[in-house]
Amino acid sequence: MTYSAIIVGAGHNGLVAANYLAKAGGRVLVLERRDFVGGACITEELFPDFRVSSCSYICHMLQGKVIDDLDLRNHGLDIHPVDPYRFQPFPSGNYMLRWHDQERNTEEIARMSSRDVAGYQRYQDFMRRAAGILHRYFLESPPTLAQVTEDVRGTRDEAVWERMLTGNMRDLVEEHFESPEVRAVFIDAEDAGDPRAPSSIMSIAYLDTDMFTADENFGIPHGGMGGITQAMARAAESLGAEIRTNAVVNRILVRDGRAVGVELDDGERVEADVVLSNADPKRTFLSLVDESDLAPEIVRGISRLKTDVSYLKFHAALDELPDFTHYLGNRYDENFLVQVRICPSVEYFQQSADDARAGRPSSAPVMHIQIPSVLDKSLTPEGKHVMSIWVLYAPVRPREGTWDDLREQTGEHLIDVIGEYAPNFRKSVRDWELFTPVELEERVGLTDGNIRHLDITSAQILANRPSSLFDGYKTPVEGLYLCGAGTHPGGEVTGAPGHNAAHAVLREWEAV
Ligand SMILES: Cc1cc2nc3c(=O)[nH]c(=O)nc-3n(C[C@H](O)[C@H](O)[C@H](O)COP(=O)(O)OP(=O)(O)OC[C@H]3O[C@@H](n4cnc5c(N)ncnc54)[C@H](O)[C@@H]3O)c2cc1C
Repeated sequence: MTYSAIIVGAGHNGLVAANYLAKAGGRVLVLERRDFVGGACITEELFPDFRVSSCSYICHMLQGKVIDDLDLRNHGLDIHPVDPYRFQPFPSGNYMLRWHDQERNTEEIARMSSRDVAGYQRYQDFMRRAAGILHRYFLESPPTLAQVTEDVRGTRDEAVWERMLTGNMRDLVEEHFESPEVRAVFIDAEDAGDPRAPSSIMSIAYLDTDMFTADENFGIPHGGMGGITQAMARAAESLGAEIRTNAVVNRILVRDGRAVGVELDDGERVEADVVLSNADPKRTFLSLVDESDLAPEIVRGISRLKTDVSYLKFHAALDELPDFTHYLGNRYDENFLVQVRICPSVEYFQQSADDARAGRPSSAPVMHIQIPSVLDKSLTPEGKHVMSIWVLYAPVRPREGTWDDLREQTGEHLIDVIGEYAPNFRKSVRDWELFTPVELEERVGLTDGNIRHLDITSAQILANRPSSLFDGYKTPVEGLYLCGAGTHPGGEVTGAPGHNAAHAVLREWEAV
């Protein structure tokens, strides 16, 4: 049987694409190498009776249109809102809560440093414009940087866009805030890997597009992030899409320059009119498509794509919550602990970036801690908790030794650092596990463990994601499309690449 479309990979974007194509009447087959769907948007039982969002942990950018079009709430999606969405303690005993509401944030800033209130308003105005410039193209075919420059010309966004292209986060934060602790709240660089890197404002603006997410779509999915992809899979199957797990695609078959199907690792061949790859661009073009089916400049261009910036993911089963009561006093509420950030200063953040660039696990790990079991009691036995930490930064490959040599001491160091803020932490840990870039690559199939398939930087966004040699989602191999995080607009659980890739295919189908 020939399918209308085969989708390689049941990550959330593959599932989104499957929904749109099946809804349009296509005969769709999704092939997933693991024994469950979801890619990096999953829940796993990493410790007996403790279930964890083992990769992504917060639903903050899933596009409202995708939720509505796929009718995900009627297929089981349920999101616990998180507000405040972050608690950040400092060694001084001070702390900051970040809320969705700007007035409440202003009060928090005023409590920490009255001089920084005006800077906060200016910073928010800048970031709203910066994020808005990117967000307006999310569900469209990607424009080039030059087209965006044309679009903003003569508007108040023009200077913001220029700063996004040329400025860096460290200057931006130090220019807007005076208090070292307030600076530590806002310093970030994400995939730019360094707050002094010219691309760092672009990387942060991309993630700050979550300020346009409706409150009801921002939070922790019930049952973990797998709740999102389980709902997507149910929706796709209800439309007639077939999903096969334990189905490893070895090769994308190309005949006379056109993708005609796939070959599985057991030798089975399945044919289709079009193939969409949810695997990352490097995996797709450097291992699934034969080099002989590609022009040399495509192979060279894909090999040079940047997957350099890496993170760690730590998971623990806890007997009790970490004790942060001495920070919050009579303001204490355990709901404030759902998300905690450890980053005491700009210099500490810089150290984390510098260590990773030097090929060392960080001596100053910046930690985004989540304890979802505060809100979602379905994840753990009664009274117990799960904690996950997303850690910035880590080298893809350590300069000395291997991640196998370094895993234990790196995990122990994270426990020690948290213990400096929450003294009961070490004794509360029943068990822990650390995913280095090696585990992220092996488990999820992410090249170099890259959580967004490719670094999100100025050079790898919009029409340059993954390559200006591609026509958006259409690759140079006729009938082969990319539909994952390595395409516009990029990584995170957004559903946007899957939405846009499916619409590119639908436009071709309509044209026939
Ligand atoms: C540690 C970590 C933390 C993160 N935190 C967040 C967060 O809090 N919030 C957020 O929004 N995003 C977060 N992200 C990013 C986000 O999860 C990813 O960018 C996004 O899930 C990518 O989705 P995708 O569908 O494009 O690709 P993927 O999820 O990578 O899916 C690709 C799928 O293809 C399959 N596949 C690959 N090769 C083959 C093959 N040969 N045959 C068959 N199947 C194949 C893989 O098994 C996988 O299921 C995080 C990611 C990680 C790893």
